[in-house]
Amino acid sequence: MTTAVVVGGGPNGLAAAVHLAAQGIEVQLLEAADRVGGGLRSSTDLTVPGLVHDHCAAIHPMGAGSPFLSRLGLDRYGLRWRWPEIDCAHPLDHGPAALLYRSLAATAAGLGGDETRWRGLFAGPVADFEQISSELLRPIVHLPRHPLPLAKFGMKAVLPAAALARWFRTPRARALFGGIAAHAFSRLDLPASSAVGLMIAATGHRHGWPVAEGGSQAIATALERVLLDNGGKVETGMRVRSVADLPPADIVLLDLPPRGVLDLFGERIPGRIARALGAYRHGPAAFKVDFAIDGPVPWRDPACRRAGTVHVGGSFTEIAAAERRVVAGQLPEKPFVLVGQQFVADPTRSVGDIHPLYAYAHVPHGYTGDATGAVIAQIERFAPGFREQIVHTVSTTPAHLAERNPNNIGGDIVGGANTARQLLFRPRLSPDPYALGVPGVFLCSAATPPGAGAHGMCGRHAAESALKYLRTSHRSSTRKNTYR
Ligand SMILES: Cc1cc2nc3c(=O)[nH]c(=O)nc-3n(C[C@H](O)[C@H](O)[C@H](O)COP(=O)(O)OP(=O)(O)OC[C@H]3O[C@@H](n4cnc5c(N)ncnc54)[C@H](O)[C@@H]3O)c2cc1C
Repeated sequence: MTTAVVVGGGPNGLAAAVHLAAQGIEVQLLEAADRVGGGLRSSTDLTVPGLVHDHCAAIHPMGAGSPFLSRLGLDRYGLRWRWPEIDCAHPLDHGPAALLYRSLAATAAGLGGDETRWRGLFAGPVADFEQISSELLRPIVHLPRHPLPLAKFGMKAVLPAAALARWFRTPRARALFGGIAAHAFSRLDLPASSAVGLMIAATGHRHGWPVAEGGSQAIATALERVLLDNGGKVETGMRVRSVADLPPADIVLLDLPPRGVLDLFGERIPGRIARALGAYRHGPAAFKVDFAIDGPVPWRDPACRRAGTVHVGGSFTEIAAAERRVVAGQLPEKPFVLVGQQFVADPTRSVGDIHPLYAYAHVPHGYTGDATGAVIAQIERFAPGFREQIVHTVSTTPAHLAERNPNNIGGDIVGGANTARQLLFRPRLSPDPYALGVPGVFLCSAATPPGAGAHGMCGRHAAESALKYLRTSHRSSTRKNTYR
């Protein structure tokens, strides 16, 4: 029987394992932590016992919109998406918050003078969503099947977010777009800094920004169950430190950052590929703060209380300036903060009136200071009285994020800097960036296309690349251990 080892059980490692096991391959997944999940872990013992906190990924437009995950029927394995009434709110110092709904029409209608322009920007990508996503959720080097919708999207995506924001007339629409574009963790004045925001917003208009009932861990648990159902095996508490730790197998898939791949396979990787992996860059970090709060956040604009996500950063100009400082290695006085109110969509996460609140600030790569005060001050700015509601606080520094999951290098939570180059060619320019040049060894982490997010598409494509290798290589008995 053909055998596979998958190192790392994040969404991409799990997706790769599931895809291979479904093809009849005997899969063994090795995970360093005591549970699978990687960026999907949640727990109930972080603050007040019983409150469900997501450690990393919280909001899942990319998960709900993932062509791979949606085909698996994960609801049969316990996954239930829960949608907030408002996907995302963006409070401002003056006037009402800008609100992002799943409905394009409702969002546009709320943006007053920019109703037509918001609709104009997103109507095309939303109408052509399946075609565009089938082109973008894969390596960029390929022959497009839907060149026209792709070209139309691409013409906007290559623009700096700052240029695209100027298309809007009102500060509210500009700020709403800026907060979404900031998910890229990059400077908003650089080419292609619109791409991530356009994709997340379009996915949201199509699939919403749901949370997983009971915590994001439910996504990992569902994937693990599919894997076990297909005969796969999972070993946790197993950190692979050298090739000698790998059991014999025909193929190996690595849910690791490029640096981790080099640590394991170093000299076996051909020079050209090794140099590309060595040159791969990691970007700014997240400084996470989890709260237990008594009652809902007292947002000045009550609409924010109905949103699953709140972007706290003020105007587009302010967000762009903050992101610029972060990329330059400095903590802004008022950093961009993403607040997750998953309990609004999923009340099972709360204990009575005590709710789990999720927040992280964008901070410089490897930031060693304490940004807790800055996070609280930013929330307090739009929700006076918030401080008094805090029952418990747990801060997680970039170093802690990396300690818990070695893929989060320097606190980078998006698997590598979203520079134009790394957005397009991740981790290197190739029609098959998953292949590592060592027979039977493949990279499947978020450092491959289509990049960050709990969608499993990197794992699925890497598994396809491995299946192609199996089909074209010799009989499995001669393949075993070729990577050793
Ligand atoms: C704070 C935070 C917030 C986020 N918010 C969102 C969000 O709201 N929505 C969203 O879609 N995405 C979000 N993300 C991003 C998302 O979580 C990641 O893009 C996604 O998890 C990447 O999946 P992956 O499988 O490539 O890697 P990971 O999820 O990082 O998994 C890698 C796994 O490999 C294991 N591992 C590493 N080295 C070894 C080794 N040597 N041996 C064995 N095992 C090893 C790790 O323990 C880990 O389990 C967030 C991430 C973080 C950290």
